[in-house]
Amino acid sequence: MIAPATLYVVATPIGNLRDITLRALDVLAAVDVIAAEDTRTTRRLLTHFSISKRMIAVHQHNEMGAAQRIIDLLRAGQAVGFVTDAGTPGISDPGGTLVTLAREQGCNVVPVPGANAAICALSAAGIPASRFLFYGFLPPSPGPRRRELEELRSSPYTLVFYEAPHRILESVSDLADVFGAHRHLAIARELTKLFENIHICPLGDAVAWLEADPNHQKGEFVLILAASEAAREDQLSDQTQRTLKLLLEDLPLKQAVKLAADITGQSKNKIYSLALTLKSD
Ligand code: SAM
Repeated sequence: MIAPATLYVVATPIGNLRDITLRALDVLAAVDVIAAEDTRTTRRLLTHFSISKRMIAVHQHNEMGAAQRIIDLLRAGQAVGFVTDAGTPGISDPGGTLVTLAREQGCNVVPVPGANAAICALSAAGIPASRFLFYGFLPPSPGPRRRELEELRSSPYTLVFYEAPHRILESVSDLADVFGAHRHLAIARELTKLFENIHICPLGDAVAWLEADPNHQKGEFVLILAASEAAREDQLSDQTQRTLKLLLEDLPLKQAVKLAADITGQSKNKIYSLALTLKSD
């Protein structure tokens, strides 16, 4: 079941330990060694599932050296599992270097998929997610953060950010300043954990919500900012919009979307997102 000389990139839970997959457990139990971002965190996870395994630390301060050591093990025929502290390795955490080097040096790399905070939040926020831009963490200091947000202002996509509790207030405040008060923001906190909460509000109300209760600023956060309606509408021709609007006046949403797609030849998903926006206005 486990191939030799293979790097298994294994997703782990983002909170609820029962979100580990059966395949992840099989792989972690079977590999020769586990490369982990923080061996103490991973040890707790492994202990919970009664797995005992040799580990190597791969964190941002030793990434190059550790990556080369792991590649030597792969070349010697060992199977290596690679995990980070939570979620899918390499998504806003160290590890990219290991996977890139392993591929460059001809090693076999196999993904073992599972939890990811951004996708988890998108799946339940109710904000159109057929097209989204995953941005990850914004810069910690205000100047660069504002500059990067300005660059995103005209993006036609739903925007997804990660944020830490000590910066959530200033980042949301900058989002409101740059994107205005009207777009919807989902503040997804502590996903899959005891105090999980997904709060959706207009950007203009978000800072007040965070300030209303100190608990609202605690934990880990995914922020989802709905796409600018104007930018999204630009993507569809005027004719498509006119057709859809007319159909929505007389038909249920699903039927109107299907007919508009048939008439205009545009993708159903695109028209469906536009229909949701038109309906919610
Ligand atoms: N690799 C991870 C993934 O696949 O989602 C992300 C790792 S990144 C270092 C950690 C950030 O992910 C946190 O600061 C937070 O923004 C987000 N995150 C992780 N777990 C979360 C959770 N349970 N609820 C909300 N956000 C979470």
